Amino acid sequence: MATGKINVSVDNIFPLIKKFLYSDHEIFLRELISNATDATLKLKHLTSIGEAKVEYGNPIIEVKADKEGKKLHIIDQGIGMTEEEVKKYINEVAFSGAEEFLDKYKDADKDAGIIGHFGLGFYSSFMVANKVEIITKSYKDEPAVHWSCDGTPKFSIKKAKKVDRGTEIILHISDDDTEFLEDHRISELLRKYNKFMPIPIKFGTKTETLPKPEGAKEEDPAPTQEVDNIINNPNPAWTKQPTDLEDKDYKDFYRELYPMQFEEPLFSIHLNVDYPFNLTGILYFPKLSNDLNIQKDRIQLYQNQVFVTDNVEGIVPEFLTMLRGVIDSPDIPLNVSRSYLQADGAVKKIASYITRKVADKLSSIFKNNREEFEAKWNDIKIVIEYGMLSEEKFFEKADKFALYPTVDGKFFTFDELQEKIKDNQTDKDEKLVVLYASDKEAQHSYIEAAKAKGYEVLLMDSPIIAHLMQKLETSKEKLSFVRVDADHLDNLIKKDETQISKLSDEEKERLKTNLEEVITDKSYTIQMEAMDSNASPFMITEPEFMRRMKEMQQTGGGGMFGMGNMPEMYNLVVNTNHELVGEILNTKTAKKRERLINQSLDLARLSKGLLKGEELTNFIKRSYEMVK
Ligand code: ADP
Repeated sequence: MATGKINVSVDNIFPLIKKFLYSDHEIFLRELISNATDATLKLKHLTSIGEAKVEYGNPIIEVKADKEGKKLHIIDQGIGMTEEEVKKYINEVAFSGAEEFLDKYKDADKDAGIIGHFGLGFYSSFMVANKVEIITKSYKDEPAVHWSCDGTPKFSIKKAKKVDRGTEIILHISDDDTEFLEDHRISELLRKYNKFMPIPIKFGTKTETLPKPEGAKEEDPAPTQEVDNIINNPNPAWTKQPTDLEDKDYKDFYRELYPMQFEEPLFSIHLNVDYPFNLTGILYFPKLSNDLNIQKDRIQLYQNQVFVTDNVEGIVPEFLTMLRGVIDSPDIPLNVSRSYLQADGAVKKIASYITRKVADKLSSIFKNNREEFEAKWNDIKIVIEYGMLSEEKFFEKADKFALYPTVDGKFFTFDELQEKIKDNQTDKDEKLVVLYASDKEAQHSYIEAAKAKGYEVLLMDSPIIAHLMQKLETSKEKLSFVRVDADHLDNLIKKDETQISKLSDEEKERLKTNLEEVITDKSYTIQMEAMDSNASPFMITEPEFMRRMKEMQQTGGGGMFGMGNMPEMYNLVVNTNHELVGEILNTKTAKKRERLINQSLDLARLSKGLLKGEELTNFIKRSYEMVK
């Protein structure tokens, strides 16, 4: 037996490992299984090129917990190590890797968040063990080696009796970390980090029911047998070629990823690049609902089938973090802070590749199956609208397929909409005026009025639509969005020339004076308009600009401070062709005229949602009096 001292600059690195990575003790298992996987894949490679003259077979990795002995074993059937290799790879390579990692970690801003503490490798075992043993036999014809280290820089190395090729790591779990000897905890970790690793991982056994032998009686119990409990799927869908997968395979994989998710995904996007960076994965557009699962089921990031994190912020553009699925790339630097990550060239390229693939997929559904696209629009619009707002590149593409639904359930792209409305929805400056409603119920009477005039009205009710409208108004020339209850009827849009006013100019003047005598509230500007006799007699509109300002003030929009309260400003549009308006004009007594005007005004305010409190109570009381 030989002993030696690991060459370290810090006298004892192990307390450091424990201290620095306190919160993430659990990653040791992922690191050891990654090493076991690498060792197995290396053997596969060497046998395939004829370098290693041994049978590759069907190697597995086994995890065994020995609760009494407080030991955890990780056993592989990979290439193993010779004595020289243990000295080199464990004492030098592994150690310098650990030291380098800790150095970096010490300098890093603690809060910047290092993804998954990747890169610590073999020495992460000392986060949970006070002694670690390695018993390994190389595929080469050399004796097996037994290495052991108790957490000081001293180690011992001797010959071992192991006859099978491969490596067994034995962790003597410290008293603080006995949770890692519990079956349920180990299963949980294996499922979290190793669910899709490429080599089968065995943890314990399970009982499998076999088919009954021929001629067995009804009451005979079915035979059973103990089989290896393999916890992973070594060939997950994203590692396969898209051409080898069907729609059902994608759906099955979704279920495998999110077993608690019962809703089917809307569609999937297979990512597959090998130049200039390596990336595979499958993204899903989920049916977004208001429940909390949105937060729980997120995109998972893997590196060569090893789970790293489900916090992909900084790697995937923010608007796509609402999607689900898997991204696997060895090219994402993981032991760096997020701010560094966002500035990294490779990561930027990955983000823009993902954005482009998502846009292309949406575009192809739009082109090839417009009906399906329209049917799914409500479920996908948030992601698309958010993307259009936040990523200029995505905006350029999505502008061709983003849909604008009308209140009647028709869907237009922006270009189609423009074509459709350009003849009668332009104002005096030839600006395209897009009428929209944000609430079909609350703005019902306005929608009806606009439709009666032959206008197309959009239904823009998604939460960020106000921002998107602003974006569209600034990026497209001569365009303005105007809500149906804004003052579009008169001064923005071309007058309805086909309507002839029933009142003469003199009558109109007289009516206006009558109205102004009764309506003394200065927030109303009275406008006369000849409309269809079936349209409302009185209608209140609010300038679009004023309303948006008020809305921004309410939501505490930036830069709105110090503007004071916005004054109330409304237009009272009077339909000079309505019978009731004629009656107001021709009523003999001033008292009756006043009553008609007040009642009509209140009805208009009611329909705009402006009549509240005491005024509403009085209005209702008055109305009962009138009908009785
Ligand atoms: P890394 O895996 O990042 O190289 P580690 O510290 O985890 O760093 O391991 C150092 C080296 O030790 C590995 O590169 C490998 O050569 C060797 N090694 C570790 N575990 C095994 C194993 N189970 N079988 C064979 N070699 C191993």
